[in-house]
Amino acid sequence: MKSSYLGSCHCGAVRFRATLDLDESIVCDCTICVRKGNIANRVEDTDFELLTPLEELEVYRFNKKIARHYFCRHCGIHPFHRPRTMPHLWAVNVRCLENLDMQDVTPRQVHGSQLD
Ligand SMILES: [Zn+2]
Repeated sequence: MKSSYLGSCHCGAVRFRATLDLDESIVCDCTICVRKGNIANRVEDTDFELLTPLEELEVYRFNKKIARHYFCRHCGIHPFHRPRTMPHLWAVNVRCLENLDMQDVTPRQVHGSQLD
């Protein structure tokens, strides 16, 4: 069941709202998700609202330079990205959602490491 969540980086400079189903969360074994400890949940534009202009964030790109890994320029936290396999979606970092008990999140494993 979808619910609406507020999300933020650590310092609060980046804020957003996402409507998502926690049961659709994933963990990925690619090089960057592993290092971030990322738990992702992919949503359409209609379920994602930026409360901070995107221009306020920095973006990290590598390899095929399709995915856009946004991060706060002040605290360095990565609150969401545009995923390589579905760059029209927002991959919210579930760990950045507020008032969430992480024990309620049981993400499914995906294998981004096996992409070229
Ligand atoms: Zn921040």
